Amino acid sequence: MCASILAGDSLRALYNKYRPQRFADVAGQRHVVRILQNALVHKRVSHAYLFSGERGTGKTTVGRILAKALNCQRGIQPEPCNDCEHCRSVGNESFLDLIEIDAASHTSVNDIRDLREKVRYRPASGRYKVYLIDEVHQLSRSAYNAFLKTLEEPPDHAVFILATTDPHRVLPTVRSRCQHLRFKRIDHAQMIGQLERIVGLEEAMADDQALALIARNAEGSLRDALGLLEQGLAYAENRLTERQMRELLGTAGYEGVSIVAAAIARGSVGDAMTALAQSIDDGADPTALHRQLVGFFRAVLMLLTSRNESILGQYSADELAVLREVANNFARIRQPLAVVEALTERPPLTAARPPQLDLELAIVQAALATGAEDALRPLPAVEAPAVKTAAPSYPAPAAEPDPQARPEPAGAAANAPAAGLEPSPKPSVDPGTGPEPEPEPEPEPAPPPGTGDSDLLERFEAVRERFIALVREWDPTVQGQFLGAPARMEGSALVLGIRQQFALDRLDSPAKRAGLEQIAQTALGEPVELRLEHVPSDSGGEAYTARIARAAGELLGAREIKDV
Ligand SMILES: [Zn+2]
Repeated sequence: MCASILAGDSLRALYNKYRPQRFADVAGQRHVVRILQNALVHKRVSHAYLFSGERGTGKTTVGRILAKALNCQRGIQPEPCNDCEHCRSVGNESFLDLIEIDAASHTSVNDIRDLREKVRYRPASGRYKVYLIDEVHQLSRSAYNAFLKTLEEPPDHAVFILATTDPHRVLPTVRSRCQHLRFKRIDHAQMIGQLERIVGLEEAMADDQALALIARNAEGSLRDALGLLEQGLAYAENRLTERQMRELLGTAGYEGVSIVAAAIARGSVGDAMTALAQSIDDGADPTALHRQLVGFFRAVLMLLTSRNESILGQYSADELAVLREVANNFARIRQPLAVVEALTERPPLTAARPPQLDLELAIVQAALATGAEDALRPLPAVEAPAVKTAAPSYPAPAAEPDPQARPEPAGAAANAPAAGLEPSPKPSVDPGTGPEPEPEPEPEPAPPPGTGDSDLLERFEAVRERFIALVREWDPTVQGQFLGAPARMEGSALVLGIRQQFALDRLDSPAKRAGLEQIAQTALGEPVELRLEHVPSDSGGEAYTARIARAAGELLGAREIKDV
Protein backbone atom coordinates (compact mmCIF):
# COMPACT_ATOMS: atom_id res chain seq x y z
CA MET A 1 0.00 0.00 0.00
CA CYS A 2 1.90 2.96 -1.22
CA ALA A 3 2.05 5.42 -4.07
CA SER A 4 3.70 2.82 -6.27
CA ILE A 5 0.31 1.31 -7.06
CA LEU A 6 0.07 4.23 -9.46
CA ALA A 7 2.52 2.43 -11.69
CA GLY A 8 0.26 -0.57 -12.23
CA ASP A 9 -1.41 -0.52 -15.61
CA SER A 10 -3.47 -3.65 -15.07
CA LEU A 11 -6.41 -1.70 -13.74
CA ARG A 12 -7.46 0.18 -16.82
CA ALA A 13 -11.00 -1.03 -17.33
CA LEU A 14 -12.55 2.34 -16.46
CA TYR A 15 -10.07 4.22 -18.62
CA ASN A 16 -10.86 2.03 -21.61
CA LYS A 17 -14.58 1.95 -20.90
CA TYR A 18 -14.81 5.74 -20.88
CA ARG A 19 -12.15 6.47 -23.47
CA PRO A 20 -13.57 9.38 -25.52
CA GLN A 21 -14.85 8.40 -28.96
CA ARG A 22 -15.22 11.96 -30.28
CA PHE A 23 -12.93 14.99 -30.24
CA ALA A 24 -15.62 16.88 -28.31
CA ASP A 25 -15.25 14.49 -25.37
CA VAL A 26 -11.46 14.74 -25.06
CA ALA A 27 -10.57 16.36 -21.73
CA GLY A 28 -8.20 19.29 -21.45
CA GLN A 29 -6.65 19.32 -24.95
CA ARG A 30 -8.78 21.96 -26.66
CA HIS A 31 -5.82 23.48 -28.55
CA VAL A 32 -4.77 20.13 -30.05
CA VAL A 33 -8.33 19.19 -30.98
CA ARG A 34 -8.87 22.54 -32.65
CA ILE A 35 -5.80 22.21 -34.87
CA LEU A 36 -6.76 18.68 -35.92
CA GLN A 37 -10.39 19.56 -36.59
CA ASN A 38 -9.35 22.57 -38.67
CA ALA A 39 -7.06 20.31 -40.69
CA LEU A 40 -9.93 17.85 -41.24
CA VAL A 41 -12.33 20.62 -42.29
CA HIS A 42 -9.83 22.04 -44.79
CA LYS A 43 -8.71 18.56 -45.91
CA ARG A 44 -5.15 19.47 -45.03
CA VAL A 45 -4.18 16.74 -42.65
CA SER A 46 -0.44 16.42 -42.23
CA HIS A 47 1.31 13.19 -43.16
CA ALA A 48 3.16 13.14 -39.87
CA TYR A 49 2.24 14.32 -36.40
CA LEU A 50 4.29 14.30 -33.25
CA PHE A 51 2.06 14.10 -30.17
CA SER A 52 4.03 14.90 -27.03
CA GLY A 53 2.80 15.01 -23.46
CA GLU A 54 2.93 13.15 -20.18
CA ARG A 55 1.39 9.73 -19.81
CA GLY A 56 -2.36 9.51 -19.55
CA THR A 57 -3.05 12.85 -21.23
CA GLY A 58 -4.91 11.41 -24.24
CA LYS A 59 -2.33 11.04 -27.03
CA THR A 60 -3.43 7.54 -28.08
CA THR A 61 -7.09 8.44 -27.65
CA VAL A 62 -6.78 11.47 -29.93
CA GLY A 63 -4.75 9.42 -32.43
CA ARG A 64 -7.52 6.84 -32.66
CA ILE A 65 -10.22 9.49 -33.10
CA LEU A 66 -8.15 11.07 -35.88
CA ALA A 67 -7.83 7.64 -37.55
CA LYS A 68 -11.62 7.29 -37.41
CA ALA A 69 -12.27 10.80 -38.75
CA LEU A 70 -9.92 10.15 -41.68
CA ASN A 71 -11.55 6.84 -42.57
CA CYS A 72 -15.19 7.42 -41.66
CA GLN A 73 -17.47 6.10 -44.41
CA ARG A 74 -19.66 9.20 -44.12
CA GLY A 75 -16.73 11.28 -45.37
CA ILE A 76 -13.92 13.25 -43.74
CA GLN A 77 -15.59 15.40 -41.08
CA PRO A 78 -14.39 17.21 -37.96
CA GLU A 79 -15.96 14.38 -35.93
CA PRO A 80 -16.21 10.70 -36.88
CA CYS A 81 -19.77 9.32 -37.09
CA ASN A 82 -18.94 6.44 -34.70
CA ASP A 83 -21.64 4.46 -36.46
CA CYS A 84 -20.24 3.21 -39.77
CA GLU A 85 -18.32 -0.02 -40.11
CA HIS A 86 -14.94 1.74 -40.18
CA CYS A 87 -15.60 3.84 -37.07
CA ARG A 88 -16.92 0.84 -35.19
CA SER A 89 -13.96 -1.34 -36.11
CA VAL A 90 -11.50 1.34 -34.94
CA GLY A 91 -13.54 1.39 -31.73
CA ASN A 92 -13.13 -2.35 -31.16
CA GLU A 93 -9.50 -2.34 -32.33
CA SER A 94 -10.10 -4.49 -35.41
CA PHE A 95 -9.58 -1.86 -38.14
CA LEU A 96 -6.84 -3.10 -40.47
CA ASP A 97 -5.74 0.37 -41.62
CA LEU A 98 -4.96 1.59 -38.10
CA ILE A 99 -1.61 0.10 -37.18
CA GLU A 100 -0.58 0.68 -33.57
CA ILE A 101 3.06 0.03 -32.78
CA ASP A 102 4.70 0.22 -29.38
CA ALA A 103 8.19 1.48 -30.14
CA ALA A 104 9.35 0.30 -26.72
CA SER A 105 9.01 -3.32 -27.88
CA HIS A 106 9.58 -2.83 -31.63
CA THR A 107 12.79 -0.89 -31.69
CA SER A 108 14.82 -2.87 -34.20
CA VAL A 109 15.77 -1.89 -37.73
CA ASN A 110 13.98 -4.99 -39.00
CA ASP A 111 10.71 -3.88 -37.46
CA ILE A 112 11.03 -0.54 -39.23
CA ARG A 113 12.09 -2.14 -42.53
CA ASP A 114 8.98 -4.26 -42.28
CA LEU A 115 6.93 -1.10 -41.74
CA ARG A 116 8.60 0.55 -44.74
CA GLU A 117 7.67 -2.40 -46.94
CA LYS A 118 4.05 -2.51 -45.85
CA VAL A 119 3.39 1.22 -45.84
CA ARG A 120 3.58 1.21 -49.64
CA TYR A 121 0.53 -1.03 -50.04
CA ARG A 122 -2.82 0.68 -50.41
CA PRO A 123 -5.12 0.73 -47.37
CA ALA A 124 -7.20 -2.43 -46.96
CA SER A 125 -10.57 -0.68 -46.84
CA GLY A 126 -10.07 2.89 -45.61
CA ARG A 127 -8.81 6.09 -47.24
CA TYR A 128 -5.68 6.28 -45.12
CA LYS A 129 -3.34 3.89 -43.43
CA VAL A 130 -2.76 5.43 -40.03
CA TYR A 131 0.36 4.43 -38.12
CA LEU A 132 0.18 5.21 -34.42
CA ILE A 133 3.67 4.73 -33.00
CA ASP A 134 3.79 5.02 -29.23
CA GLU A 135 6.90 5.98 -27.22
CA VAL A 136 8.65 6.79 -30.49
CA HIS A 137 11.71 8.16 -28.65
CA GLN A 138 12.61 4.57 -27.78
CA LEU A 139 13.43 3.65 -31.38
CA SER A 140 17.10 2.85 -31.89
CA ARG A 141 19.16 5.27 -33.94
CA SER A 142 19.41 2.88 -36.88
CA ALA A 143 15.67 2.30 -36.71
CA TYR A 144 15.21 6.08 -36.79
CA ASN A 145 17.34 6.39 -39.88
CA ALA A 146 15.37 3.68 -41.61
CA PHE A 147 12.15 5.38 -40.59
CA LEU A 148 13.33 8.79 -41.74
CA LYS A 149 13.32 7.66 -45.37
CA THR A 150 9.64 6.80 -45.04
CA LEU A 151 8.89 10.12 -43.37
CA GLU A 152 10.72 12.04 -46.09
CA GLU A 153 8.53 10.63 -48.83
CA PRO A 154 5.39 9.26 -47.26
CA PRO A 155 2.88 7.68 -49.65
CA ASP A 156 -0.24 9.83 -50.09
CA HIS A 157 -2.33 7.27 -48.25
CA ALA A 158 -0.18 7.20 -45.09
CA VAL A 159 -0.54 9.27 -41.92
CA PHE A 160 2.00 8.83 -39.13
CA ILE A 161 1.18 9.74 -35.56
CA LEU A 162 4.28 9.57 -33.39
CA ALA A 163 3.52 9.75 -29.69
CA THR A 164 6.11 10.44 -27.03
CA THR A 165 6.42 11.47 -23.41
CA ASP A 166 9.86 12.88 -24.18
CA PRO A 167 9.97 14.94 -27.40
CA HIS A 168 13.56 16.05 -26.80
CA ARG A 169 14.73 12.49 -27.30
CA VAL A 170 13.11 12.36 -30.74
CA LEU A 171 15.75 13.13 -33.37
CA PRO A 172 15.44 16.71 -34.68
CA THR A 173 15.39 15.38 -38.25
CA VAL A 174 12.27 13.39 -37.38
CA ARG A 175 10.73 16.21 -35.33
CA SER A 176 11.12 18.74 -38.11
CA ARG A 177 9.14 16.54 -40.50
CA CYS A 178 6.19 16.36 -38.14
CA GLN A 179 3.57 18.78 -37.03
CA HIS A 180 4.29 18.89 -33.30
CA LEU A 181 1.23 19.01 -31.02
CA ARG A 182 1.80 19.29 -27.29
CA PHE A 183 -0.65 17.65 -24.90
CA LYS A 184 -1.12 19.38 -21.55
CA ARG A 185 -1.49 17.78 -18.17
CA ILE A 186 -5.13 17.60 -17.16
CA ASP A 187 -5.71 20.32 -14.58
CA HIS A 188 -7.29 19.68 -11.21
CA ALA A 189 -10.75 21.07 -12.00
CA GLN A 190 -11.00 19.15 -15.29
CA MET A 191 -9.84 16.00 -13.55
CA ILE A 192 -12.48 16.37 -10.82
CA GLY A 193 -15.10 16.96 -13.52
CA GLN A 194 -14.15 13.73 -15.32
CA LEU A 195 -14.08 11.74 -12.07
CA GLU A 196 -17.51 13.04 -11.02
CA ARG A 197 -18.94 12.22 -14.44
CA ILE A 198 -17.66 8.65 -14.35
CA VAL A 199 -18.72 8.06 -10.73
CA GLY A 200 -22.21 9.13 -11.84
CA LEU A 201 -22.20 6.89 -14.91
CA GLU A 202 -21.05 3.97 -12.77
CA GLU A 203 -23.95 4.72 -10.41
CA ALA A 204 -21.45 4.81 -7.57
CA MET A 205 -20.78 7.41 -4.89
CA ALA A 206 -17.58 9.14 -3.84
CA ASP A 207 -17.22 12.14 -1.57
CA ASP A 208 -15.58 15.34 -2.82
CA GLN A 209 -12.49 14.93 -0.66
CA ALA A 210 -11.90 11.40 -1.95
CA LEU A 211 -11.99 12.66 -5.54
CA ALA A 212 -9.72 15.60 -4.67
CA LEU A 213 -7.26 13.13 -3.15
CA ILE A 214 -7.33 11.00 -6.30
CA ALA A 215 -6.85 14.02 -8.55
CA ARG A 216 -3.91 15.29 -6.50
CA ASN A 217 -2.22 11.88 -6.57
CA ALA A 218 -2.73 11.40 -10.30
CA GLU A 219 -0.64 14.52 -11.09
CA GLY A 220 -2.23 15.36 -14.41
CA SER A 221 -2.67 11.83 -15.76
CA LEU A 222 -6.29 10.94 -16.37
CA ARG A 223 -5.29 7.32 -16.82
CA ASP A 224 -3.75 7.21 -13.34
CA ALA A 225 -6.77 9.00 -11.87
CA LEU A 226 -9.23 6.49 -13.32
CA GLY A 227 -7.00 3.61 -12.21
CA LEU A 228 -7.10 4.96 -8.64
CA LEU A 229 -10.85 5.55 -8.84
CA GLU A 230 -11.33 1.99 -10.00
CA GLN A 231 -9.32 0.60 -7.09
CA GLY A 232 -11.12 2.91 -4.68
CA LEU A 233 -14.59 1.92 -5.87
CA ALA A 234 -13.68 -1.78 -5.74
CA TYR A 235 -12.22 -1.37 -2.24
CA ALA A 236 -15.19 0.64 -0.95
CA GLU A 237 -17.87 -1.32 -2.81
CA ASN A 238 -18.94 1.74 -4.80
CA ARG A 239 -19.31 4.07 -1.78
CA LEU A 240 -15.92 5.75 -1.59
CA THR A 241 -14.94 8.03 1.29
CA GLU A 242 -11.79 10.06 1.80
CA ARG A 243 -10.75 7.82 4.69
CA GLN A 244 -10.96 4.69 2.52
CA MET A 245 -9.01 6.34 -0.26
CA ARG A 246 -6.33 7.36 2.22
CA GLU A 247 -6.13 3.80 3.55
CA LEU A 248 -5.69 2.57 0.01
CA LEU A 249 -3.03 5.14 -0.85
CA GLY A 250 -1.29 4.96 2.50
CA THR A 251 -1.43 8.75 2.69
CA ALA A 252 -1.93 10.64 5.89
CA GLY A 253 -4.96 12.87 6.24
CA TYR A 254 -4.43 16.53 5.50
CA GLU A 255 -4.60 17.19 9.22
CA GLY A 256 -1.76 14.76 9.95
CA VAL A 257 0.41 16.24 7.22
CA SER A 258 -0.26 19.79 8.35
CA ILE A 259 0.65 19.01 11.98
CA VAL A 260 4.04 17.69 10.87
CA ALA A 261 4.43 20.62 8.47
CA ALA A 262 3.54 23.23 11.09
CA ALA A 263 6.12 21.79 13.49
CA ILE A 264 8.79 21.90 10.77
CA ALA A 265 7.86 25.50 9.96
CA ARG A 266 8.16 26.48 13.64
CA GLY A 267 11.55 24.82 13.67
CA SER A 268 10.43 22.46 16.42
CA VAL A 269 12.22 19.19 15.77
CA GLY A 270 10.63 17.46 18.78
CA ASP A 271 7.05 18.29 17.75
CA ALA A 272 7.77 17.32 14.15
CA MET A 273 9.12 13.90 15.14
CA THR A 274 6.21 13.27 17.53
CA ALA A 275 3.68 14.18 14.83
CA LEU A 276 5.50 11.98 12.33
CA ALA A 277 5.36 9.00 14.69
CA GLN A 278 1.65 9.61 15.24
CA SER A 279 0.95 9.66 11.49
CA ILE A 280 2.89 6.44 10.92
CA ASP A 281 0.99 4.83 13.81
CA ASP A 282 -2.24 5.90 12.11
CA GLY A 283 -1.23 3.92 9.03
CA ALA A 284 0.47 6.53 6.84
CA ASP A 285 3.02 5.17 4.39
CA PRO A 286 6.36 6.99 4.86
CA THR A 287 7.01 7.45 1.14
CA ALA A 288 3.51 8.78 0.57
CA LEU A 289 3.77 11.07 3.60
CA HIS A 290 7.12 12.35 2.39
CA ARG A 291 5.57 13.14 -0.95
CA GLN A 292 2.71 14.94 0.76
CA LEU A 293 5.11 17.04 2.84
CA VAL A 294 7.06 18.06 -0.25
CA GLY A 295 3.77 18.95 -1.94
CA PHE A 296 2.69 20.92 1.13
CA PHE A 297 5.81 23.09 1.30
CA ARG A 298 5.84 23.50 -2.44
CA ALA A 299 2.34 24.95 -2.12
CA VAL A 300 3.59 27.21 0.71
CA LEU A 301 6.37 28.41 -1.57
CA MET A 302 3.82 29.08 -4.32
CA LEU A 303 1.62 30.94 -1.88
CA LEU A 304 4.53 33.17 -0.83
CA THR A 305 6.01 33.84 -4.26
CA SER A 306 3.31 33.63 -6.90
CA ARG A 307 -0.31 32.84 -7.48
CA ASN A 308 0.16 29.56 -9.31
CA GLU A 309 -3.47 28.54 -9.61
CA SER A 310 -2.81 25.13 -11.09
CA ILE A 311 -1.18 24.20 -7.78
CA LEU A 312 -3.12 26.31 -5.29
CA GLY A 313 -6.37 25.42 -7.08
CA GLN A 314 -5.92 21.86 -5.84
CA TYR A 315 -6.56 22.94 -2.28
CA SER A 316 -9.92 23.60 -0.68
CA ALA A 317 -10.61 26.82 1.23
CA ASP A 318 -9.98 25.04 4.55
CA GLU A 319 -6.73 23.56 3.31
CA LEU A 320 -5.58 26.94 2.00
CA ALA A 321 -6.25 28.42 5.42
CA VAL A 322 -3.90 25.82 6.94
CA LEU A 323 -1.28 26.52 4.27
CA ARG A 324 -1.45 30.24 5.06
CA GLU A 325 -1.11 29.59 8.77
CA VAL A 326 2.01 27.50 8.23
CA ALA A 327 3.37 30.03 5.70
CA ASN A 328 3.13 32.77 8.31
CA ASN A 329 5.77 31.00 10.39
CA PHE A 330 8.34 32.11 7.84
CA ALA A 331 9.89 35.55 7.98
CA ARG A 332 12.16 35.04 5.00
CA ILE A 333 11.63 33.36 1.65
CA ARG A 334 14.89 31.42 2.10
CA GLN A 335 13.27 29.47 4.93
CA PRO A 336 10.55 27.56 3.02
CA LEU A 337 13.04 27.21 0.17
CA ALA A 338 15.53 25.54 2.50
CA VAL A 339 12.75 23.33 3.88
CA VAL A 340 11.84 22.03 0.41
CA GLU A 341 15.49 21.48 -0.39
CA ALA A 342 16.05 19.60 2.85
CA LEU A 343 12.98 17.45 2.19
CA THR A 344 14.09 16.51 -1.31
CA GLU A 345 17.84 16.35 -0.81
CA ARG A 346 18.42 12.71 0.04
CA PRO A 347 18.93 10.50 -3.02
CA PRO A 348 16.71 7.55 -1.96
CA LEU A 349 13.80 9.95 -1.67
CA THR A 350 14.11 11.75 -4.97
CA ALA A 351 10.97 9.93 -6.09
CA ALA A 352 9.17 12.47 -3.93
CA ARG A 353 10.16 15.28 -6.29
CA PRO A 354 7.40 16.43 -8.61
CA PRO A 355 8.79 16.73 -12.15
CA GLN A 356 8.95 20.52 -12.34
CA LEU A 357 10.12 21.11 -8.76
CA ASP A 358 13.80 21.39 -9.70
CA LEU A 359 13.01 24.21 -12.08
CA GLU A 360 10.80 26.00 -9.56
CA LEU A 361 13.52 25.85 -6.92
CA ALA A 362 16.14 26.95 -9.40
CA ILE A 363 14.06 29.97 -10.35
CA VAL A 364 13.51 31.09 -6.77
CA GLN A 365 17.18 30.51 -5.97
CA ALA A 366 18.20 32.42 -9.06
CA ALA A 367 16.08 35.34 -7.90
CA LEU A 368 17.68 35.20 -4.46
CA ALA A 369 21.16 34.85 -5.93
CA THR A 370 20.94 38.56 -6.72
CA GLY A 371 21.33 39.18 -3.01
CA ALA A 372 17.92 40.78 -2.99
CA GLU A 373 15.96 41.32 0.18
CA ASP A 374 13.90 38.25 1.07
CA ALA A 375 11.99 39.34 4.15
CA LEU A 376 8.32 38.36 4.20
CA ARG A 377 5.17 40.04 5.40
CA PRO A 378 2.36 38.04 7.03
CA LEU A 379 -0.21 36.90 4.49
CA PRO A 380 -3.70 38.33 4.85
CA ALA A 381 -6.12 36.08 6.73
CA VAL A 382 -8.49 35.75 3.76
CA GLU A 383 -7.64 34.16 0.46
CA ALA A 384 -7.69 36.45 -2.57
CA PRO A 385 -10.85 35.71 -4.57
CA ALA A 386 -8.92 34.82 -7.73
CA VAL A 387 -7.89 31.40 -6.43
CA LYS A 388 -10.30 28.61 -7.25
CA THR A 389 -11.02 26.23 -4.42
CA ALA A 390 -11.24 22.52 -5.01
CA ALA A 391 -14.25 21.98 -2.80
CA PRO A 392 -16.72 24.81 -3.24
CA SER A 393 -19.06 23.02 -0.84
CA TYR A 394 -16.96 24.24 2.07
CA PRO A 395 -18.38 27.35 3.66
CA ALA A 396 -15.93 30.13 2.92
CA PRO A 397 -14.40 31.77 5.98
CA ALA A 398 -15.88 35.14 6.88
CA ALA A 399 -14.56 37.74 4.50
CA GLU A 400 -12.34 40.54 5.65
CA PRO A 401 -11.97 43.77 3.74
CA ASP A 402 -9.75 43.28 0.72
CA PRO A 403 -6.27 44.42 1.76
CA GLN A 404 -5.68 45.70 -1.76
CA ALA A 405 -8.63 48.05 -1.39
CA ARG A 406 -7.17 49.71 1.69
CA PRO A 407 -6.11 53.30 1.09
CA GLU A 408 -2.35 53.54 1.17
CA PRO A 409 -0.19 56.51 2.08
CA ALA A 410 1.64 58.19 -0.75
CA GLY A 411 4.87 56.42 -1.58
CA ALA A 412 3.63 53.09 -0.27
CA ALA A 413 2.95 51.88 -3.79
CA ALA A 414 6.36 50.22 -3.74
CA ASN A 415 5.10 47.86 -1.07
CA ALA A 416 2.58 46.04 -3.20
CA PRO A 417 0.11 43.93 -1.23
CA ALA A 418 1.72 40.67 -0.25
CA ALA A 419 -1.08 38.48 -1.54
CA GLY A 420 -1.22 39.96 -5.01
CA LEU A 421 2.33 40.19 -6.27
CA GLU A 422 1.01 41.42 -9.58
CA PRO A 423 3.66 43.05 -11.73
CA SER A 424 3.97 46.56 -10.43
CA PRO A 425 3.87 49.42 -12.91
CA LYS A 426 6.97 50.80 -11.17
CA PRO A 427 9.75 51.05 -13.76
CA SER A 428 12.78 50.51 -11.55
CA VAL A 429 13.88 48.88 -8.32
CA ASP A 430 12.71 50.62 -5.19
CA PRO A 431 15.41 52.76 -3.56
CA GLY A 432 16.62 51.17 -0.36
CA THR A 433 16.49 47.54 -1.52
CA GLY A 434 20.21 47.17 -1.99
CA PRO A 435 22.62 49.05 -4.22
CA GLU A 436 20.85 51.29 -6.68
CA PRO A 437 21.61 50.23 -10.25
CA GLU A 438 22.69 52.82 -12.77
CA PRO A 439 19.59 54.40 -14.22
CA GLU A 440 19.17 53.16 -17.74
CA PRO A 441 16.64 53.85 -20.45
CA GLU A 442 13.57 51.66 -20.61
CA PRO A 443 14.79 48.72 -22.71
CA GLU A 444 11.51 48.21 -24.49
CA PRO A 445 8.33 50.18 -25.02
CA ALA A 446 5.31 48.83 -23.18
CA PRO A 447 3.38 46.26 -25.22
CA PRO A 448 0.49 47.81 -27.14
CA PRO A 449 -2.88 47.51 -25.44
CA GLY A 450 -5.07 44.63 -26.56
CA THR A 451 -2.92 41.58 -27.21
CA GLY A 452 -5.53 40.02 -29.50
CA ASP A 453 -6.07 36.30 -29.91
CA SER A 454 -3.51 34.81 -27.55
CA ASP A 455 -4.90 31.38 -28.49
CA LEU A 456 -3.69 31.92 -32.04
CA LEU A 457 -0.23 32.76 -30.72
CA GLU A 458 -0.28 29.58 -28.65
CA ARG A 459 -1.42 27.53 -31.64
CA PHE A 460 1.33 29.06 -33.74
CA GLU A 461 3.98 28.23 -31.14
CA ALA A 462 2.68 24.65 -31.12
CA VAL A 463 3.39 24.32 -34.84
CA ARG A 464 6.41 26.64 -35.11
CA GLU A 465 8.81 23.79 -35.93
CA ARG A 466 6.52 22.63 -38.70
CA PHE A 467 6.26 26.20 -39.98
CA ILE A 468 10.06 26.51 -40.07
CA ALA A 469 10.37 23.18 -41.88
CA LEU A 470 7.93 24.41 -44.54
CA VAL A 471 9.73 27.75 -44.86
CA ARG A 472 12.96 25.84 -45.39
CA GLU A 473 11.47 24.10 -48.43
CA TRP A 474 10.17 27.40 -49.76
CA ASP A 475 13.14 29.68 -49.18
CA PRO A 476 16.07 28.11 -47.30
CA THR A 477 17.86 31.45 -46.90
CA VAL A 478 15.28 32.84 -44.48
CA GLN A 479 14.15 29.83 -42.43
CA GLY A 480 16.75 30.52 -39.70
CA GLN A 481 15.13 33.90 -39.09
CA PHE A 482 12.19 32.23 -37.37
CA LEU A 483 14.22 30.12 -34.94
CA GLY A 484 13.57 31.48 -31.49
CA ALA A 485 12.50 34.88 -32.82
CA PRO A 486 9.67 36.37 -30.77
CA ALA A 487 6.12 36.29 -32.06
CA ARG A 488 3.25 38.36 -30.74
CA MET A 489 -0.30 39.35 -31.53
CA GLU A 490 -1.33 42.78 -32.74
CA GLY A 491 -5.08 42.96 -33.11
CA SER A 492 -5.96 39.93 -35.20
CA ALA A 493 -2.56 39.81 -36.91
CA LEU A 494 0.24 37.47 -35.94
CA VAL A 495 3.47 39.49 -35.88
CA LEU A 496 6.62 37.45 -36.43
CA GLY A 497 10.02 38.76 -35.42
CA ILE A 498 12.73 38.66 -38.09
CA ARG A 499 16.34 38.55 -36.92
CA GLN A 500 18.10 40.29 -39.78
CA GLN A 501 17.19 43.29 -41.89
CA PHE A 502 18.22 41.61 -45.16
CA ALA A 503 15.64 38.89 -44.59
CA LEU A 504 12.93 41.40 -43.84
CA ASP A 505 13.78 43.19 -47.11
CA ARG A 506 13.72 39.89 -48.93
CA LEU A 507 10.28 39.04 -47.57
CA ASP A 508 8.88 42.53 -47.94
CA SER A 509 6.86 42.06 -51.11
CA PRO A 510 3.16 41.23 -51.49
CA ALA A 511 3.99 37.98 -53.28
CA LYS A 512 6.46 36.85 -50.61
CA ARG A 513 4.09 37.89 -47.84
CA ALA A 514 1.28 35.88 -49.43
CA GLY A 515 3.59 32.89 -49.76
CA LEU A 516 4.52 33.10 -46.09
CA GLU A 517 0.87 33.45 -45.09
CA GLN A 518 0.06 30.37 -47.12
CA ILE A 519 2.78 28.45 -45.28
CA ALA A 520 1.54 29.65 -41.90
CA GLN A 521 -1.97 28.58 -42.91
CA THR A 522 -0.73 25.14 -43.91
CA ALA A 523 1.11 24.73 -40.62
CA LEU A 524 -1.78 26.03 -38.52
CA GLY A 525 -4.64 24.53 -40.50
CA GLU A 526 -6.42 27.89 -40.52
CA PRO A 527 -6.07 31.20 -42.34
CA VAL A 528 -3.93 33.80 -40.61
CA GLU A 529 -3.03 37.46 -41.12
CA LEU A 530 0.73 37.78 -40.90
CA ARG A 531 3.02 40.75 -40.31
CA LEU A 532 6.78 40.90 -39.97
CA GLU A 533 8.96 43.11 -37.84
CA HIS A 534 12.68 43.50 -37.37
CA VAL A 535 13.84 42.18 -33.97
CA PRO A 536 17.65 42.01 -33.77
CA SER A 537 18.57 38.99 -31.68
CA ASP A 538 20.81 40.98 -29.32
CA SER A 539 18.38 43.69 -28.39
CA GLY A 540 15.60 41.12 -28.08
CA GLY A 541 17.68 39.06 -25.70
CA GLU A 542 18.71 42.05 -23.63
CA ALA A 543 15.17 43.30 -23.37
CA TYR A 544 14.07 39.87 -22.24
CA THR A 545 16.81 39.59 -19.62
CA ALA A 546 16.05 43.09 -18.39
CA ARG A 547 12.36 42.25 -18.10
CA ILE A 548 13.11 39.13 -16.05
CA ALA A 549 15.54 41.01 -13.82
CA ARG A 550 13.03 43.80 -13.31
CA ALA A 551 10.27 41.32 -12.51
CA ALA A 552 12.49 39.57 -9.96
CA GLY A 553 13.43 42.90 -8.40
CA GLU A 554 9.81 43.93 -8.14
CA LEU A 555 8.82 40.59 -6.72
CA LEU A 556 11.38 40.82 -3.98
CA GLY A 557 10.96 44.55 -3.45
CA ALA A 558 7.24 44.03 -3.14
CA ARG A 559 7.77 41.56 -0.34
CA GLU A 560 9.94 43.84 1.73
CA ILE A 561 8.78 44.63 5.24
CA LYS A 562 8.20 48.35 5.59
CA ASP A 563 10.03 48.54 8.90
CA VAL A 564 13.19 46.78 7.76
ZN1 LIG B 1 -17.93 6.68 -39.46
